[in-house]
Amino acid sequence: MQTTVAAKVDDTADARIDPPSQTLGTALHHLDAAAARLGLSAAIHLRLRHPKEQVAVRLHPVLPSGKVLSCPAYIVRHSDILGPAKGGIRMHPRVSMEMVTGLAMEMTWKTALIDVPFGGGKSGIACDATSLSAEEKEVLIRSFARAARRHIGPELYVPAPDMGTGEEEMGYFRDCIAHSEGYSIPRGCFVTGKPVILGGIHGRREATGKGVIHTLKAACRERGIKIEGLRVAIQGFGNVGAVAAAEVAALGAKVIAVADLSGAVFSANGLNIAALAQHFKQAGVLSGFSGGEAMEASAIFNLPCDVLIPAAAGSQITIDNVHGIRARIIAEAANAPITPEADAILNERGVLVIPDILCNAGGVFVSYLEYTQETQREQMTKAEVNSRLQQRMETTFAEVLQYAQSNRITLRDAAMNIAVGRVAAGIRARGAHP
Ligand code: NAD
Repeated sequence: MQTTVAAKVDDTADARIDPPSQTLGTALHHLDAAAARLGLSAAIHLRLRHPKEQVAVRLHPVLPSGKVLSCPAYIVRHSDILGPAKGGIRMHPRVSMEMVTGLAMEMTWKTALIDVPFGGGKSGIACDATSLSAEEKEVLIRSFARAARRHIGPELYVPAPDMGTGEEEMGYFRDCIAHSEGYSIPRGCFVTGKPVILGGIHGRREATGKGVIHTLKAACRERGIKIEGLRVAIQGFGNVGAVAAAEVAALGAKVIAVADLSGAVFSANGLNIAALAQHFKQAGVLSGFSGGEAMEASAIFNLPCDVLIPAAAGSQITIDNVHGIRARIIAEAANAPITPEADAILNERGVLVIPDILCNAGGVFVSYLEYTQETQREQMTKAEVNSRLQQRMETTFAEVLQYAQSNRITLRDAAMNIAVGRVAAGIRARGAHP
């Protein structure tokens, strides 16, 4: 496409090139605490505090309208000790190198905990995905695939969807890599979360949300709570939140409120999730849904409910709103949704928090199945995928619970101990002279 001289350049991303992010601070806080509990050597602790590789690239895609975007993008490989770095591509205006680094670090613990042979990575494009049409998003993701090409590969870093990206974008990403290689398909698995028609795996789209509810079921069992009739509030109605809502409603719980960036909807008797999903499909937002009462999005954290599922952005439950939370169980579907200060208060109050690296690990587990399926040119049915997902989520929850009970620590601390301990063991096993 010819760029005209009159093309408008949107350079507003510069103003937010590295907005402060709490995500890295939260990730380091949890790592430092685990290192102290495990008595890690200073050398290993230091190695885990810093990412292996950080790359910043600049994208200048020409949109179909002739307008030229200019936005920073980042690729971080935190650790490849246990395998190629794995982690999604986030498209969000507040994306920064710092945030992507924190998220990549979290992925290292998540893959280690759920016990798949991957390390931790993440990438991000600092752009407001909601302001782009589907066509514009395709141009942007292709631009990212070209710019990031040298840092992506089946043995290097394998991306997947995250906030602001989904199945379609992963399909375009794969197509772009195949083009660059000159073949009809890329040689090996360069990306997971693709459409099934392009080598994706059945059940990947739902895997994170389903996994969240598997851990919630296990937590309820542990607390002797029946899931039927439980009042559930969910922040976020995207890839993860919408599936979690449908899954928990199917178990007989009442989803009393759901929030997204447009606001929240509430119904004391439980929302009709199928009708809400239908409304969302047409409107693209939750607001305007006639089957519930409209509320401010932030009100989701003050509702009388039994279970709270933050399934949106990071650092949503903070010292400022934690006192309003009335849930007995919080399932961290999002990455790092609770700041360490708020987490300490919730622990003191006896709220059971299912930590993100356990709660939302279903997505990366099924990504691993997609990776092996593509590498081995195999095919797995949805029933096989769902059964392996359920089994892995349940066994990992049981392992974390047992560790927590025998060491009298929280589920988060137990999950971190297991995960960090595994990565540290990998460092030692690789030898002292890398
Ligand atoms: P998405 O972009 O599909 O959806 C995000 C949702 O959150 C949208 O409904 C959006 O409106 C809402 N939202 C964002 N900020 C909000 C705010 N401040 N208040 C209220 N609502 C807000 O993203 P997703 O893929 O569903 O990811 C959600 C979270 O889950 C992220 O933290 C992501 O890192 C994490 N996660 C996703 C996956 C996956 O497989 N997609 C896997 C593991 C973890």
